[in-house]
Amino acid sequence: MKNKMTDCIFCKIVKGEIPAVKVWEDENYIAFLDINPIQPGHTLVLPKKHSDDLFELDDRDYLELMIKSKEVAEMLKRKLKPKRIGVIVEGFAVPHVHVHLVPINKGGELNPERAKKATTEELNEIAKRIK
Ligand code: 5GP
Ligand code: ZN
Repeated sequence: MKNKMTDCIFCKIVKGEIPAVKVWEDENYIAFLDINPIQPGHTLVLPKKHSDDLFELDDRDYLELMIKSKEVAEMLKRKLKPKRIGVIVEGFAVPHVHVHLVPINKGGELNPERAKKATTEELNEIAKRIK
């Protein structure tokens, strides 16, 4: 039988088995840049421990993820100075709960159809501005 946690790409990033451009982490949470950003600075915030659906988390874990997402959003806002930080939670592609934080400047920018693959150089450049 397949083990979801072993196959999960975000669990592999958490364990350092595949690379990611990290912008923040603490003991139980991590934030790294999305490889297909909707806008520069598009960041994913997630618990290091695998769970699937945001609204199936217990209240404590849900609130903690939201509080960590707020901390990361404040950092993105301070460093990149967008007008807003848009928030998306979908989880169709990667079933490891994560909050998308997307720096945006006008209505309509928070649209997953605008996502484009970024190079590692572009991601590292943005990460330097964030950290
Ligand atoms: P969702 O599950 O929220 O629908 O989409 C998953 C998101 O994770 C997508 O925006 C996708 O670009 C991003 N993603 C998928 N695989 C990787 C990866 O290996 N590294 C990073 N940094 N992001 C990824
Ligand atoms: Zn996982």
